[in-house]
Amino acid sequence: MSAEAVAGQAPGPVRFGIRARLLLAFVAVAALSVVACGLGWLSYDRLGGTLDEFAESHLPALGLAARLAEEGGSIIATAPILANARTEQELGAIRDALGRRLAALRLLAAEGERGVPGLRPMVDALGHNLADIDATVRHRLALARRNQESIERLRWLHADFLDEIEPLVADARFNIQSALGSVETGTRSAGAVRVLREESRRSEAVLQIGANGNLAVGLIARAATLATTEALDDNAGFLEETADRLQHDLATLKDWADGVSLGQVVARLLELARGEGSIPELRRAELAAADQGQGLLTENRKLVARLNGLIAQQVQSVETTSRAAAARSAQAIAEGRSALLASALVSLLVAVLVAWLYVNRSIISRLTRLGSAAHEIAAGNLQADIPLGGNDELSQMAAALLVFRDTAIAVEEANAQAIIDNAQAGLATTDADGVIEFVNPLAAALIAAPEGGADGRLADRLEPAGARRVEDFFREARAAPEEAAPSLSILTAGQRPNGRPVPVQVGIRPFRRRQQQRFIVTLTDMTERVEAQQLLERTVAERTADLRTTNARLERSIAEHQRAERDLRDTQAELVQAGKLAALGQLAAGVGHELNQPLSAIRSYAHNGRKLIALGRVAEAEGNLGKIADLTARMANITNHLKRFARRPDTRLGAVELAPVVQGALSLFGDRLREESVELAVELPEDSAPLRVRAEEVRLEQVLVNLLSNALDAVAHAPRRRVAIAAEAADDTVRITVRDSGPGIPDAVAGQVFDPFFTTKPVGAGLGLGLSISYNIVRDFGGALSVAESGPGGTAFLLTLTRA
Ligand code: ADP
Repeated sequence: MSAEAVAGQAPGPVRFGIRARLLLAFVAVAALSVVACGLGWLSYDRLGGTLDEFAESHLPALGLAARLAEEGGSIIATAPILANARTEQELGAIRDALGRRLAALRLLAAEGERGVPGLRPMVDALGHNLADIDATVRHRLALARRNQESIERLRWLHADFLDEIEPLVADARFNIQSALGSVETGTRSAGAVRVLREESRRSEAVLQIGANGNLAVGLIARAATLATTEALDDNAGFLEETADRLQHDLATLKDWADGVSLGQVVARLLELARGEGSIPELRRAELAAADQGQGLLTENRKLVARLNGLIAQQVQSVETTSRAAAARSAQAIAEGRSALLASALVSLLVAVLVAWLYVNRSIISRLTRLGSAAHEIAAGNLQADIPLGGNDELSQMAAALLVFRDTAIAVEEANAQAIIDNAQAGLATTDADGVIEFVNPLAAALIAAPEGGADGRLADRLEPAGARRVEDFFREARAAPEEAAPSLSILTAGQRPNGRPVPVQVGIRPFRRRQQQRFIVTLTDMTERVEAQQLLERTVAERTADLRTTNARLERSIAEHQRAERDLRDTQAELVQAGKLAALGQLAAGVGHELNQPLSAIRSYAHNGRKLIALGRVAEAEGNLGKIADLTARMANITNHLKRFARRPDTRLGAVELAPVVQGALSLFGDRLREESVELAVELPEDSAPLRVRAEEVRLEQVLVNLLSNALDAVAHAPRRRVAIAAEAADDTVRITVRDSGPGIPDAVAGQVFDPFFTTKPVGAGLGLGLSISYNIVRDFGGALSVAESGPGGTAFLLTLTRA
């Protein structure tokens, strides 16, 4: 889409843009929340309904059932007390209590008739049953009262009976006593016996009647308390028998006037023992009433059990409905919970989908891409890819950014053109084939078109060799991958507008514009530079020739110098040798003296030897010969040393053991030291390993001989003659000090002692070469020789060498 096209689009409101979509998404999520709330409300409503139902119907039913159970239970508990009431009073109280309970039960039954069908008839039946029990108990109590009265009567009759019996028995006893008295006196004996007989029979009957009467009273009284009809039957049997016996005995007394009232009492007694209204019959009736009461009580229990059954049924039905209601509540809660969960999940899902699919994918990622495109464009990459597409606010932004970018490109191109046109260098641009697109005035002056005009190939405006290289370059550039486009820099020739050739430096570099490969060509007028270079080359050629001459001269002088140096070295060697020979000469006298002494000794030993041989004292002569041999060995040693000292030294350096060299040097002065009474002190370190220095043995000895010789010369006229040689090792150096007790070096000459041919000694005594040669030798060893101290107390030379 071009900038104009985009700019042509009116940025009017988007019909269904991000705002509308997000609004829709939030409305959807909010709607889901509302649905969730509605579901929650519905389920709580259902739950509330169930709880109301509980409160309104099941709880009262349960309460009713509980009260019914309570009343029923108290009736069950009270009914037996009613049935077993002992007095009218007790009965009345229980009846009243039961009446109240029954009334309450009736009320409850009326209340619960709807819920518990058959409850009211049951309560009515229970009322009838209780009334029956009441009637039966009343009857039983009446019977018991009558029984009680009969027992009272029995008690009175028994007393009457005993009152009747006792005088009869007393009478009979009296009559029998009288008859017995008559019999004993013998008067009216027949009558007395008859009387006796009659009275005895009568007395026996009375005693029988007394016994049976008492038994009958006991049996009658017992009947009043017997608990079962069987026992009553048994008792009745006995009572019947006793009554029969009583009647029989009474029959024997019927003609006896005194026994009439007894008979009447017995007859009244027997009325209480037998027949209707008798105590056993009353007791029987009482037991029957009690049995009936028990039957009614059983019936009462059954009724109450049925009532309880009904109540239990009621309780169970309430429980069942309550359970159903609880289950419904639980289900309502579970459903509500599931519905809430589902709607929450759906809300979450919708929110996630909106956030992920729409906000993230469609908005955030596009915004990010748009942002990075804007960032790239701001950073100067006008080729940045702008994400277009879609029909919302973001696509509007993208379109605006596209317009911005294209404007920026246009401005940049205009700027580039202005820069190229105004640049202080020759600039041109070409396309990928090397066809010129822009040429600024400076460049146009260097590569003028053959027929004028800006177009044409760059190669066509260069000299043939340069043209070929430029053609090759563009061919290569076309073949090369975009990111590895080559660049070129050559010196060639262009053409002035007037047709004259001009040396030009052509630089070609790739660049990309609007995603197309372009090349920028820098053209530099090389006329001045070529001229300067030519001048430079000329100057360089001249300078080079000069330098060659100078060089040849220098080489010659170096050769001369080297030759002079060689000569100098030779001279130095000569000098060293001369110095040595001079020292040798000095020593020669001493050596001669040294040899003289053994020689004269040898001579004397030889002379004595000959004489001893002549005297035949061969053994003693042999001793002399031995001494001669020793002396010759000593002499040979001295001469050997001299020989070695005189020889030309080895130029190679090595590790030289110090002690033997010091000893060698000292051995040359043994005689002189003795003769001149010079005190000698030698201090060498007594290490386990011998002290070695980097030197050459002969030359080192030469140095030491020279220093010792000077020291001896110095102490020659000193009041105390002392020469000390000491060596000490420190790290990698060895310091050797040669110290004397001479007068010291005068300050005036102190700076000259190492100069060649400087001497303060008389002619013939010194050449003035000793210290100069020693100095050079020590320097060759890489060491140093110096005056360590000098004064009236003496002089000390310090010889420093490298430790080997
Ligand atoms: P020569 O011994 O032949 O004179 P040297 O070069 O050995 O030549 O010595 C140069 C001079 O240095 C000596 O003439 C002497 O004056 C002075 N000199 C050297 N050693 C000592 C010394 N131990 N004490 C005093 N002066 C010395």
